[in-house]
Amino acid sequence: MAVSSRNRVTIEVDRQLCYGFGDCVDTAPAVFALDDEDVSVVIDPDGAPLDDIVEAAQNCPVDAIVILDEDGEQIYP
Ligand code: SF4
Repeated sequence: MAVSSRNRVTIEVDRQLCYGFGDCVDTAPAVFALDDEDVSVVIDPDGAPLDDIVEAAQNCPVDAIVILDEDGEQIYP
């Protein structure tokens, strides 16, 4: 779980769901990267505007990226 103070959201990657397709990395390379197991990790939750982070989550084919607002409400999916 990574907290973005800039965007006031929490970003989580479900490691069980992530298949390492890399679409999130392509969309927001300053925010997401693949680790040495080819699973996406959040490297900088403040690395992009919220719209780009949501777009990255939308581009994930398995909806492995969960974005919550500061009240814990789910923004995506
Ligand atoms: S787009 Fe989804 S499945 Fe692909 S690396 Fe990112 S989180 Fe994992």
